[in-house]
Amino acid sequence: MRMIDSMPLVPEAGVCAEHGPFNFRYQPMGPKFFVSDTCPQCAAALKVKEQNDDAARRQREEQARVERKRCEAGVGLRYVQSCFESFVAETHEQRKALSECVAYADHIAGGGHANLVMSGQVGTGKTMLACAMVNRLLSSGRRVRIVNLGHIVRDIKDSWQKTGCKTETDIIRELVQLDLLVIDEVGQQRGTETELLLIFEIIDGRYKAMLPTVLISNLDKKGIVEAIGERAFDRLRQDGGKLVAFNWGSMRGLRRTA
Ligand SMILES: [Zn+2]
Repeated sequence: MRMIDSMPLVPEAGVCAEHGPFNFRYQPMGPKFFVSDTCPQCAAALKVKEQNDDAARRQREEQARVERKRCEAGVGLRYVQSCFESFVAETHEQRKALSECVAYADHIAGGGHANLVMSGQVGTGKTMLACAMVNRLLSSGRRVRIVNLGHIVRDIKDSWQKTGCKTETDIIRELVQLDLLVIDEVGQQRGTETELLLIFEIIDGRYKAMLPTVLISNLDKKGIVEAIGERAFDRLRQDGGKLVAFNWGSMRGLRRTA
């Protein structure tokens, strides 16, 4: 691009190595003229490339934003991309568990507040499916969190020592107010009397606020009752609470990565 004072009588021309000869283009600008001396086809191709690059960049940024949100919600890097389609259901039981989890996510997305217990051995895909639920609900704008029970207990115990940080009341209130709370690794360690009280307070608080809670455990029903206490388990079962059984061996290694 350059400026000239007057139009030449014969338009100037150039030759593009790729597209061959082309005429320069003139555009009046006040008393002067702009001369565009680049190949118009190259210019058009450059514009398309810039638009594509821009769209790709925006898509990358959006993907990063989604992943950041998922991580903040407690979804581990391993499951940040997980969706229901990532779960390979080969047996009748696996298909049943998958469809129950999908139905549950639909229920919550539709404003339902029933609770869910996911029970089964290590490596059966419980956490992955729970993360698929969390990922889905996050995309519809819900405030959702997945957290290990041990971490909740640790955070609350820490709050007793430290000053100036979140108090026990703050931590419990935050957990109670979430649109969906998924508590993973229930029963990893035997709960003390204090821990049982904390768990009850959270589950009961959510029950009273008519907000759904999902519990994930490697234990069976009896073990879960022992781990969280009869009263807390009772709350989970009210309002149509369901238990999904993951009664098969470890799927690790079979699972697709995407
Ligand atoms: Zn060209």
